Amino acid sequence: MPIYEYACRGCSHQFELLVLKGTVAVCPECQSQELEQLISGFAVSSEGIRTANVQAARRKFATSSNYRDQKVAEADEIREHSPYPPASPKKK
Ligand SMILES: [Zn+2]
Repeated sequence: MPIYEYACRGCSHQFELLVLKGTVAVCPECQSQELEQLISGFAVSSEGIRTANVQAARRKFATSSNYRDQKVAEADEIREHSPYPPASPKKK
């Protein structure tokens, strides 16, 4: 099934859309058709998740003596596992 990820140029909303023949991609937030198709989710997001896991593990290790910071790290980890990547990931 051809599911594509789009980022709206109008409101920066990112969403996945099942594109069938004749489907016109429209932002569900602002109905704009000014969309940017993101690179196919899977290869990119698995790499991103692996990076996020390493970062979370490092953060946990660094703050393991502080309970409150550990809770913050856990919250960050949950956020990083959300299905949507950050608005504009920049690779160095
Ligand atoms: Zn939009």
